[in-house]
Amino acid sequence: MLKHKRLIIVVILLGVLTLWLVNLARTKYVIPILMYHSVDPAADNDNLLSVTLDSFQRQMRFLKEHRYNVISLKEVADIIKNKKKVSANTIAITFDDGCRDVYIYAFPVLKKYNFPAEVFIVVNEVGLVQENRMSWDEVNAMQASGLIHFGSHTINHPNLAELTSEETIKNEIQGSKKILEEKLGRRVDSFCYPSGRFNAKSRKAVIDAGYELAVATNPGKGSPNDDIFALKRLRISSNADNLFIFWVESSGYYNLIREGKRK
Ligand SMILES: [Zn+2]
Repeated sequence: MLKHKRLIIVVILLGVLTLWLVNLARTKYVIPILMYHSVDPAADNDNLLSVTLDSFQRQMRFLKEHRYNVISLKEVADIIKNKKKVSANTIAITFDDGCRDVYIYAFPVLKKYNFPAEVFIVVNEVGLVQENRMSWDEVNAMQASGLIHFGSHTINHPNLAELTSEETIKNEIQGSKKILEEKLGRRVDSFCYPSGRFNAKSRKAVIDAGYELAVATNPGKGSPNDDIFALKRLRISSNADNLFIFWVESSGYYNLIREGKRK
């Protein structure tokens, strides 16, 4: 009889523990938003802003083979805003700066797997071929595919957290939106803070300009995971060449691991 009672208590405790873990996992899960810059076949290992084409191909194949649900940033914002349930293999892909090699090398890979992605362009840098920036024709070709969605990365790529002039802030945020809308022939609703730097003032300017979401890099532990005007992202650089590291980073719990480490 006593043995029975003990067994029942153990089973109940295990049940409670499992429920607690499942709940913890659910509340700590954050849709990973991958942040790439350049996809360069000749990228070297310590370049934080580049991955090699080979590495990018393997990462995208990994997502395909493991049946990740690759969604657009707009869908990410919609899920967060409406507190929708999401499967734990959901992920989004972004590229900053509008690098020309993204058009040349990454775009064909994304098309092959039918993965949507968001590209953030700096208005005054478009067409600077010597700076490895895509042209308006290339931007339009990517947009026409229906897979690639473009957002604003300001006009001049300033550090918005350091700008003091209201007018300059407004121009970089609202002005870039207007120019891009004319160039792309559609509404521009996503924004990316240059180098992930922002403050309350620039965040508010993004909302006031009519954007529906904004991405940062990783504002840190103090910042919420559900702020659609400062979405956290994971920088994928050459050190994610190892697919195990990529797998950990794209798991949805990486923020938790990293922020835990920082304590
Ligand atoms: Zn940038």
